[in-house]
Amino acid sequence: MSSVQPAETNTMRKYQLFIDGQWVDAESGKTFTTPNPSTGETLAEVAEADKADIDKAVAAARRALEGKWSKISARDRGRMLYKLSQLIEQHATELAQLETQDNGKPIRESLFVDLPQVAENFEYFAGWATKIEGETIPVPGDMFNYTLREPVGVCGQIIPWNFPLLMAAWKLAPALAAGNTIVLKPAEQTPTTAMELGKLIQEAGFPDGVVNILPGYGETAGAALASHPGIDKIAFTGSTEVGKLIARAAADNLTKVSLELGGKAPNIVFADADIEQAVNGAMMGIFFNQGQVCCAGSRLFVEERVKDQFLSSLKEKAEKIKVGDPLDKATLMGPQVSCEQLDRIKSYVGYARDEGATVLSGGGSPQLDEGFKNGYFFQPTIFSDVSNSMRVAQEEIFGPVVSVITFKDEDDLLKQANDTIYGLSAGIWTRDIVRAHRFAKEIHAGVVWINTYNMFNAASPFGGYKQSGYGREMGKHALEMYTQVKSVWVDLSGKPIGWFGK
Ligand code: ADP
Repeated sequence: MSSVQPAETNTMRKYQLFIDGQWVDAESGKTFTTPNPSTGETLAEVAEADKADIDKAVAAARRALEGKWSKISARDRGRMLYKLSQLIEQHATELAQLETQDNGKPIRESLFVDLPQVAENFEYFAGWATKIEGETIPVPGDMFNYTLREPVGVCGQIIPWNFPLLMAAWKLAPALAAGNTIVLKPAEQTPTTAMELGKLIQEAGFPDGVVNILPGYGETAGAALASHPGIDKIAFTGSTEVGKLIARAAADNLTKVSLELGGKAPNIVFADADIEQAVNGAMMGIFFNQGQVCCAGSRLFVEERVKDQFLSSLKEKAEKIKVGDPLDKATLMGPQVSCEQLDRIKSYVGYARDEGATVLSGGGSPQLDEGFKNGYFFQPTIFSDVSNSMRVAQEEIFGPVVSVITFKDEDDLLKQANDTIYGLSAGIWTRDIVRAHRFAKEIHAGVVWINTYNMFNAASPFGGYKQSGYGREMGKHALEMYTQVKSVWVDLSGKPIGWFGK
């Protein structure tokens, strides 16, 4: 089996659109290129979908939904998902290499974090396919009332570039388990692994049109999908700004929407914490995936009493992080995904200085080996003397940049921690279990980590409060987003109907 193109190939990769089980050019004939962010060189040429292609894909997804897919048993849906998870495991090395080449994330992350979780999500939801059930309701009288839990229908799914394959898995797996059909639009920065996934989806036996994958730009292909009257649901992961556009576009057709958006997570270190563990957790919270994580612990609250000890350790460790060739297994941080992201991060260094914060560490370009000088690298960066009202504490930077805010007491801390438009995640480091659980209850966030950070499992729900979005991905909660409930009433009496029957 060699359906995944090996990552080492020297010839330029080319990808077409995946519509109705066929690999086709865009109607316009247009293509775009995706660079390798560690070198700036072109990695692949990809067909560029636009409205006409989205129309074709939505029609194919509708035919599949009403045709072959609806006749396939839940067991067979589960088996296909399970087969897909196995194919992903078999091709994990090539997929991880390609993910690293397209996104820039270190190979140790793509190989040991992203790919295993991609496979895990398909495997987990394979199990759910046969367990999606209705209920019988104890209604009074000679009546029988039961519910059917049915697929929502044709789902548009728009995903970001920070975890390209994993975001595809979070979206596709529950939708397929529940019997939906899909039009997936990967991010224009990182389309390649989704196209490779398309080949494995074919190999796993999903009928034509059940999954359609259309790379293209957000403003064109993405917007056409979000506003399409032929889709029943739109699922989106990305920035809060674009999330609002999606919700508006969907409103005209009252398309169902789920959104997983930005964050500005408080990661809180109390003086009674295991400080070295908290330092490691703070690093994991912000430098993992170059800080391009919606739940990144980008507001680091440190109790005043341990500030000096904590910050000197954090600075020392941050300065030892190996930044460079993401295909090198020893590398801990690769490049940012794009030149635009790099520029955005740099601009926040200026805002921090202007508002009176201190650049304690980093703040610029790292020393790089020959061959990586055109890559989009940025140093692990720590801002201290930050107050919660500054831009660097309120706006999502999406880079390896942490803002350190000190606090004296718990009440003040909680107020500040909740003083944000976002509510995706939060972390707390303390040995006081009462405080830890009190905090978990009082923080306004969809995920809380206690003495750990960035933990995920396919069985555990993930999603945001406030402007971090709505709906929950993973776990049984994800099935809520991809099913709808029908209530069925049956008369068991055989008697004339109420007063009209008299
Ligand atoms: P970022 O700002 O981090 O690049 P975005 O939220 O812009 O993240 O992108 C996430 C996904 O949303 C990508 O697939 C992108 O193409 C898509 N997108 C961007 N703008 C729009 C839009 N106006 N309508 C629909 N999708 C969009």
